[in-house]
Amino acid sequence: MTTKFIFFTGGVVSSVGKGVTAAATGRLLKERGFNVAVQKLDPYINVDPGTMSPYQHGEVFVLDDGAETDLDLGHYERFIDIRLNKVCNITTGQVYAEVISKERRGDYLGVTIQVIPHITNEIKRRISLVAKSTNAEIVLVEVGGTVGDIEGQPFLEAIRQLRSDLGRENTMYIHVTWLPYIGATQEIKTKPTQHSVRELRSIGITPDMIIARSDYPFEKGLREKIAQFCDVDREAVIPMVTTPILYEVPLLLEKENVGNYIMQRLKLQPRCEPDWKNWEFLVSETRREKPSIRIGLVGKYVELHDAYMSVREALKHAALHNGVELDLKWIHATDLEKDAGCEILEDVDGIIVPGGFGSRGIEGKIMAANYARKNKIPYLGLCLGMQLMVVEFARDVLGSQNANSTEFDRSTPDPVIDLMPDQQNITDMGGTMRLGLYPCNLQPGTIAAEAYQTDYIEERHRHRFEFNNSYRDILYKHGMRYSGLSPDGKLVEIAEIANHPFMVGTQFHPEFLSRPNKPHPLFSRFIQAACQQAACQQAETRKTATHKAEEKEAT
Ligand code: GLN
Repeated sequence: MTTKFIFFTGGVVSSVGKGVTAAATGRLLKERGFNVAVQKLDPYINVDPGTMSPYQHGEVFVLDDGAETDLDLGHYERFIDIRLNKVCNITTGQVYAEVISKERRGDYLGVTIQVIPHITNEIKRRISLVAKSTNAEIVLVEVGGTVGDIEGQPFLEAIRQLRSDLGRENTMYIHVTWLPYIGATQEIKTKPTQHSVRELRSIGITPDMIIARSDYPFEKGLREKIAQFCDVDREAVIPMVTTPILYEVPLLLEKENVGNYIMQRLKLQPRCEPDWKNWEFLVSETRREKPSIRIGLVGKYVELHDAYMSVREALKHAALHNGVELDLKWIHATDLEKDAGCEILEDVDGIIVPGGFGSRGIEGKIMAANYARKNKIPYLGLCLGMQLMVVEFARDVLGSQNANSTEFDRSTPDPVIDLMPDQQNITDMGGTMRLGLYPCNLQPGTIAAEAYQTDYIEERHRHRFEFNNSYRDILYKHGMRYSGLSPDGKLVEIAEIANHPFMVGTQFHPEFLSRPNKPHPLFSRFIQAACQQAACQQAETRKTATHKAEEKEAT
């Protein structure tokens, strides 16, 4: 079949959930039996978000092929349960780099290189690559930013041209907007949406569908008004009221008939009936009152929850699967440094230390690992969280207070975490880490092998430093176990502490492969351990209470 393209643009303001909408729409199409891929076009000039601070950009989502991408790709993969590749995230930086290198090579000799057609052609070429590289029958393309942004213009011009290149019945434009609520008059307003559609039309794009986000439900009249003023079919104006449950969005869009409208508009016959049973179960489970489990996330960018998007989602998936409510306590690693007794950690049932770069908060994270180990609190360390678990253990058992990773102390006497040999001479920062999917053999009898229920896994990496093998034997003697090794045995991919209910650190990022309906085994096992910890704690509190009551009675 001819590949169909659906383009998503954003209007009025950013952060209206365009990424989630595109991801959920992808799910509607997958449920109808189509192969789907999603691509994000990012207007910034960085080649990828790998060199940006999470404060600027949120998490960097890593793909199988090692591409460092926008966090929306995480939504796409989780909602649709697909694996994307590097062509699925393009940036202005990549497009210009390619055009300029071709120019230097002499590919365009004699010609003046311009935004139109050279930049727009390169954008179109990269859009067409998605279908080729993923076998997708329907490609969803999300244009980052908001209509009207200067830097987004070449992308909009490229997708405008694609309608005439590919034909009307192979292309569709969905505009996602925001309807503000005016408290004083208790009204929902459509004017900004009308303006953003006018802006879109002024560059030649007429939306086929408007998905209007709002915090409150709105009546039919408003829907009709938007249809009329924006020249869109009435049934193609889709109200999308804010829901606290992310995974409800596909169900809401299905209820509004979005899937069927797209089928009709793109002249497609659904290959099967959508089956929403799993999703409905997911949503009703999320709503159900459940006992809660408190997990302390000790990080560096905790003010910005988007910086830990996949970690939070993976924890949610695992909690849901274990029948508990996730109560996530965001803990600033530097706050722990001020709190010598780790009081902040006293009420948590499990501790997670996610990935990170740079020295701020390192000692706080090491304190968290120490607290978890000494008090037998379940601990899951992801990448940096694994490295610091090793540092903490080494400091304690080797009695070497200055053991460290050479990332933080170049002249440490005990570099238990060190630069990987193939990283020694790298000078460029962008895209040069150990990135993407790598195989790992699990050692029988370990917590990791028991959690995964297999002896071979492949997980996504993003790091420069690794476990220093000169310390393998000595740390082993003191109770560290190497539950995951690269197939040649040279790299420690998972470490764990023996005689502890769950203290596991992974050099990779398992969070990227967790799905709402398929929680990641390590996260699931971690939450299970935290539940046991919570039960023990409750039993302990009950025991103390009974004891106190008995004492009182006796006096
Ligand atoms: N900074 C560490 C390294 O480069 C950890 C990276 C991470 O947590 N993703 O190895």
